[in-house]
Amino acid sequence: MTQRQVQESGVRPDSVALLRGAGLRVTASRAATLDALAGHGHLDAESVIAAVRAQLGSVSRQGVYDALRALVGAGLVRSISLDGRRALFELEQHDNHHHLVCRGCGRFEDAPCAEGSAPCLDSPAVGRHGFAIDQAEVIYRGLCPACQGRQAGSPADRAHASPAP
Ligand SMILES: [Zn+2]
Ligand SMILES: [Zn+2]
Repeated sequence: MTQRQVQESGVRPDSVALLRGAGLRVTASRAATLDALAGHGHLDAESVIAAVRAQLGSVSRQGVYDALRALVGAGLVRSISLDGRRALFELEQHDNHHHLVCRGCGRFEDAPCAEGSAPCLDSPAVGRHGFAIDQAEVIYRGLCPACQGRQAGSPADRAHASPAP
């Protein structure tokens, strides 16, 4: 992509620089995928596809999936697998942060690394297997404040709380 094409496509220059820095060929779908993730925290593939289409017009789903795969492979994008089927994507920030997921509503938040640097949670017990570990991913699960409030205050819960016969 030439400088002029980049300007005409509306792609952020940062995205082009990231691709070049990672040694990836600059394509419109890769650059638009990075754009979609910039400043948006965590997006699922559907949201990325929608954002890329909003920027570029018609792009195949496979084109966006291919772009995501290349970006994850190059270390520019982080993929967080939630339940084996659903994954969220975010720009790699190299801060080794972890994530909080609400079991009630699916709210998803960043949580700072427990120890401050990768790989955290490394321990002699883990090292016993002889792996050279460079990353530990942690997903904290629980209920967000809103869901805690709903659970405490819902009529259904009060009904269930009535004494057993
Ligand atoms: Zn919640
Ligand atoms: Zn995150």
